Amino acid sequence: MTKLSLKQEVIGTRTGYVIRFTCPACHNDNAIVNKTPKECYRETRDATCHQCKKRSTVLTPDMYEKKVYSLI
Ligand SMILES: [Zn+2]
Repeated sequence: MTKLSLKQEVIGTRTGYVIRFTCPACHNDNAIVNKTPKECYRETRDATCHQCKKRSTVLTPDMYEKKVYSLI
């Protein structure tokens, strides 16, 4: 039996300050509310499923907003 300790990566979608992702283990829909823009625009973040408590890495590929921040 193989037990993977690596966190699974899932693609999230960003709407304003809210990141949504589907848990790879139980397919529950989760939402992460970010408090700061800096946190919101990170491309990866660790998230825990509200239903099964599985941790996964949520990817939110960069969007046009990132260009604004990379200039600073
Ligand atoms: Zn889950």
